[in-house]
Amino acid sequence: MYSAIRLSKAGLNVCLVEQEKELLKKLLKTGNGRCNFTNSYYDDNSYRGDVSLAKSVIDSFSYKDTIEFMNSIGVMEVSKDGYYYPYTNKASSVSELMIKNIPSSVTLALDMIVLDINKMVGDYYHVTTSYKEFDCKRVVIATGGKAGYFFKNNDSQGYGLATKLGHNITPLKPALTSLKLRDTDIYDWAGIRLRAGVTITNAKKDAVSYKAVGEVQLTDYGISGIPVFEVSRYVTTSDEELYAVVDFLPDIDKLEAIALCNRIFNKDLTVVDALSGLFNPAITSILIANAGVMPNQLYSDLSPQDKDMIFEIAKGVFFKITGFQGFDKAQVTAGGIDTTEINLDTLESKLYKDIYFAGEVLDVDGNCGGYNLQFAFASANRCVDAIIKEFNDDTN
Ligand SMILES: Cc1cc2nc3c(=O)[nH]c(=O)nc-3n(C[C@H](O)[C@H](O)[C@H](O)COP(=O)(O)OP(=O)(O)OC[C@H]3O[C@@H](n4cnc5c(N)ncnc54)[C@H](O)[C@@H]3O)c2cc1C
Repeated sequence: MYSAIRLSKAGLNVCLVEQEKELLKKLLKTGNGRCNFTNSYYDDNSYRGDVSLAKSVIDSFSYKDTIEFMNSIGVMEVSKDGYYYPYTNKASSVSELMIKNIPSSVTLALDMIVLDINKMVGDYYHVTTSYKEFDCKRVVIATGGKAGYFFKNNDSQGYGLATKLGHNITPLKPALTSLKLRDTDIYDWAGIRLRAGVTITNAKKDAVSYKAVGEVQLTDYGISGIPVFEVSRYVTTSDEELYAVVDFLPDIDKLEAIALCNRIFNKDLTVVDALSGLFNPAITSILIANAGVMPNQLYSDLSPQDKDMIFEIAKGVFFKITGFQGFDKAQVTAGGIDTTEINLDTLESKLYKDIYFAGEVLDVDGNCGGYNLQFAFASANRCVDAIIKEFNDDTN
């Protein structure tokens, strides 16, 4: 859509083919209906897959450029700790204004699935859709990924189109998804939301992910929420036996916690009552069971070793990971078009001149927090710049 708007404004004849009856259906679901379209924070952990491609693309089209584009179509922004949303807090404002900004010269081919792209003699492409056929000089494949359950096909056919053209696809896995844990049905914790830290470790207890902290949702199958999404990619792309280590006291270390409790807990409180001032009762039960202390003994009677054990556990309960939610519940796809077959400077295919790729279909996936839409805009921008330059060179 971004490409269509810019290319058309630059004077090119554009046809936008969309398999859905409406444009930007997925955008409406982003950010819980609020559309977190970019983020001012960026570091080496913000993207995975071809990280250097992501860095190069984001370096040349930053969050400021995305905001400038939003402003240019009439979307005002609001930032919450660097996470950018439309001022209205409604994804529909973004989709409506993007659609209103499509120049009338753009041919909209809605409810048509692109099935085939064939290079023809005379340097043009023949695009076959489920309803009509089109001939064009250049094609931008921005078909997204497999994540998101509300799509007609629930499966971007961009991968199939690229494969037919001879491109390789790196393994596709759900990313930014929830994790299934062993034995969570016995914890009686479904529905609880709490602040916690989540790290993924292997059986040797070596951390394989950084620690993500935030609101974790405890569910009947395991854990969900933004911190879980952020570490989930390490699980979905690994064959190892892995554990989620949940820190139920993410903002305070063990010794501070013990000192605090020694100071504030009334000496007549039982262990269970004392800990319930700090933890949800379901979590208290897990800590007590794991520490092997009696719930009804007085907290003040616990040995220093028992207190140490309780808070050691609170700082990291190990849960065996038994699986993860699939593409239908995930927010983004890990893997995609093999970027060694793409020209980094233009995002043009190295196999076919005038075929370009943008967005999630490429082997780049971002963290939670606006990074995936930022990459979609920035990568589309890179294709567009290359196409406009070539178009101007051709016409001059
Ligand atoms: C529930 C959910 C919430 C999310 N929230 C956020 C968020 O807040 N912030 C963020 O940055 N990212 C978020 N994401 C991720 C983000 O939406 C995507 O990474 C981003 O939309 C990718 O953009 P894209 O243009 O590459 O693909 P898409 O936005 O997926 O667009 C691709 C379009 O191509 C169409 N299409 C596919 N195949 C064909 C075909 N063969 N023929 C015709 N049309 C076709 C599709 O119907 C679709 O409209 C979220 C994702 C989900 C599922």
